[in-house]
Amino acid sequence: MSTTPQAIRGTQDIFGAEAEAFAHVVETFERVRKLYRFRRVEMPVFEKTEVFSRSIGETTDVVSKEMYSFEDRGGESLTLRPEFTAGIARAYITNGWQQHAPLKVATHGPLFRYERPQKGRYRQFHQIDAEIIGAAEPQADVELLTLADQLLKELGIADGVSLQLNTLGDGASREAWRLALIDYFRAVKAELSEDSQDRLERNPLRILDSKDPRDKAFVADAPKIDDFLSGEAQEFFGQVTSGLDAAGVAWTRAPALVRGLDYYRHTAFEFVTDRLGAQGTVLGGGRYDGLMESLGGPFTPAVGWAAGIERLAMLLGNTAEPNAQVIVVVEDDALLDKAIGAITKLRSAGLSADLVAAGSPRKRFDKASKMGADALVAYAIRDGAESVRVRGERQAEIDRILS
Ligand code: ATP
Ligand code: MG
Repeated sequence: MSTTPQAIRGTQDIFGAEAEAFAHVVETFERVRKLYRFRRVEMPVFEKTEVFSRSIGETTDVVSKEMYSFEDRGGESLTLRPEFTAGIARAYITNGWQQHAPLKVATHGPLFRYERPQKGRYRQFHQIDAEIIGAAEPQADVELLTLADQLLKELGIADGVSLQLNTLGDGASREAWRLALIDYFRAVKAELSEDSQDRLERNPLRILDSKDPRDKAFVADAPKIDDFLSGEAQEFFGQVTSGLDAAGVAWTRAPALVRGLDYYRHTAFEFVTDRLGAQGTVLGGGRYDGLMESLGGPFTPAVGWAAGIERLAMLLGNTAEPNAQVIVVVEDDALLDKAIGAITKLRSAGLSADLVAAGSPRKRFDKASKMGADALVAYAIRDGAESVRVRGERQAEIDRILS
């Protein structure tokens, strides 16, 4: 007997109630992004490797150990996208999308990262993503965060999910903070995790983001960005928080929050929950004013976020697959074509419908009755004559559609 190939570790075959929850997240996102006038984009699943290595940063986990990179048959190094932002930034530059600035775009789809698979963490996972490109004003940050907040509210999962907000300041503030962090962590270097010892000089902000308990012990007393913020950076952050207050978006200041990627400036944020164990970050993002230049484009301020669809779907719980509104049951095979005509009319009129026309004719009606539909339409032969019976709710509506 030959063996069946197994699915790749860290991929998922999503089915049933979980698939309904997944689709509900995407449908709700599609509805809400239209309210905020974000335009839909579809992006390639793979890009030249440098699109990610130059923008996300060589010192990040994503680039240094999580990318699926390969050489194609032409010898070019390509990478399955680990995030959306870099590809969208590349497209913005290469397609001349500058003419649409400020450009509000949204998308969703699969991403790929070579991680240790566990609950809420996969090697192929899915995100919804929203970006505002070519907008330097704090209102853009506010609009983007309000979109995220409304999405969580409409999904019914806002309770128990909180917005953690920080500022990383402008380039000068961030650099002064970086030097102070190097000084601080250098003094305890030997007690840090190997990863953090390694990133101490190059990227000390990342130590604040570490999940290793050896690092966490020192994070609480590390220098805070607030002591290094320029007047301008303070002003910017003040406008973000007052805008959020005006929009009714609750937030908590998280002074040690930095994002895993190098490109952030000013606003950085995460929506977190304690309902998902270790995988508690459902949505993350921030302002990435330096990203376009790292890809060889002109200075272009921008802000964006991405959220894991699986993690949002897990918070929703399982969304039951809905019952059909109408079941059309064929009790005599001679009436099959009539029933097909009828069910097509019902579906065209916007009612969800299933056909029961297989198995023993005597058992079909019982089977159909148990399917929990609002209405049943039964095709049978009674005393040599065709009979069409409509039962349950919506009888007048169904009679009208079928007449
Ligand atoms: P984490 O700290 O959990 O690794 P991250 O900072 O790497 O998250 P981002 O790059 O900000 O995550 O991606 C945004 C969102 O995408 C995360 O908040 C999470 O919901 C989701 N996400 C990221 N990586 C995975 C994964 N491997 N599996 C499932 N969802 C993921
Ligand atoms: Mg990660």
